[in-house]
Amino acid sequence: MSRHLVILGAGESGTGCAILALKQGFSVFVSDSGTIKEKYAAELESLDVSFEQGKHTESMILDADEIIKSPGIPDKADIIVKARARKIPVISEIEFASRYTNAKHVGITGTNGKTTTTMLCYHILKKAGLHVGLGGNVGKSYARQVAENDYEYYVLELSSFQLDNTYTFRPNIAILSNITPDHMDRYNYEFQNYIDSKFRIAMNQTKDDYFIYCADDEITVKNLTTHKVEAEKLPFAYGKVLDKGAYVINKEFHLLENQQINPSNQLTMFINDFALKGIHNCYNSMAAAIAANVLSISKDVIRESLTDFQNVEHRLEYVATIGGIEFINDSKATNVNSTWYALESMDKPVVWIVGGVDKGNDYTALLPLVREKVRVIVCLGVDNHKIHAAFGKDVDLILNTTSAEEAVQVAKRFANKGDTVLLSPACASFDLFANYEDRGWQFKAAVKNL
Ligand code: ADP
Repeated sequence: MSRHLVILGAGESGTGCAILALKQGFSVFVSDSGTIKEKYAAELESLDVSFEQGKHTESMILDADEIIKSPGIPDKADIIVKARARKIPVISEIEFASRYTNAKHVGITGTNGKTTTTMLCYHILKKAGLHVGLGGNVGKSYARQVAENDYEYYVLELSSFQLDNTYTFRPNIAILSNITPDHMDRYNYEFQNYIDSKFRIAMNQTKDDYFIYCADDEITVKNLTTHKVEAEKLPFAYGKVLDKGAYVINKEFHLLENQQINPSNQLTMFINDFALKGIHNCYNSMAAAIAANVLSISKDVIRESLTDFQNVEHRLEYVATIGGIEFINDSKATNVNSTWYALESMDKPVVWIVGGVDKGNDYTALLPLVREKVRVIVCLGVDNHKIHAAFGKDVDLILNTTSAEEAVQVAKRFANKGDTVLLSPACASFDLFANYEDRGWQFKAAVKNL
């Protein structure tokens, strides 16, 4: 049994791991190569955990029996390479904390829709009165909750980076929302590596578990033939009828009883009644509803939860209508696929604010939607030449701006009454903003100042 743990990275998840490790009787050392936030440093001090910041002292770290690595640290990092060479196991928070709870887990991964689906699942489980914790990339760390609470259920948002260092973690219910290329820099620019990482969510599942996936997602469907998934597979689809899982046809949602069609047990409702709008959000609503169904949550609770859920900030978030112009904040759209769904769901002419740090984007997929719906493009980024090259010929007007405030003012000036101004950047935010939240907040503040 390993007794000396080293935790790399002292954010919410690293600090949570330290708390759980102490409770489980490990000796702990925490190392962060950056600056540790005041509140976490204070917490570690109060727990008497030894820690360092601004460096990784090799001798201290390579003394570990096991290392818990923050998902932000790539496998290629020097210290990880050295640990591996010494055969020190490197695991994630999820792997570590799951050892110390017997709770049932709903694990949610995918390129897009993780946070939304996670929050919606959590909302349904809570409304059903289950004793449930929320963790992964959102809120309080999972490890902290395992140490401090005694939840019977966890809903966990799992990035591919978190899954990369899980080995025995077995969610009872796994949701894979979709897979499109992202984070290629962390996967040696091999899409298959990233796909394989996503499928790790199912690798320890047994036939008593459930694997919920999008039957319209070609990559997922194709890879289901090459990855062993023992769990019962429950698909969801938009625009075609399925015989299990859930589907939407003619704007009507159908949730099927497990395993077989039993019309008398179906839940049906109009997607107009969903709190979450747009096709992508229909997928998210379906995935969460299937998970709830598997947990035998009543149809009434599922229906009500899908109707009264409050969307997560920065995801197609309605901000205000000013002078007949509607403003929507979709700052979390940091790749082309998520922006595709945002544009797809627009039903009025669009003034589109786009740009930032391009992660090797191919904008071709957006062209038909841009031609159909976008009148004006407002670029918000340091280098906008790819956006000009991709869309310059297809819109009436394309302008450059370098702050959220300027972008909002320019958008307002060129928008007509009845238009929608949509911030859906398809790019990361780090050229002009601290992160996507900062971008979204600055956008909202600028709209409110108009
Ligand atoms: P994640 O946590 O995976 O990044 P979010 O729920 O935060 O996903 O949504 C991120 C962005 O992706 C938002 O801009 C949203 O509009 C878009 N999006 C949400 N769900 C989906 C989906 N199922 N497919 C494609 N895009 C989606």
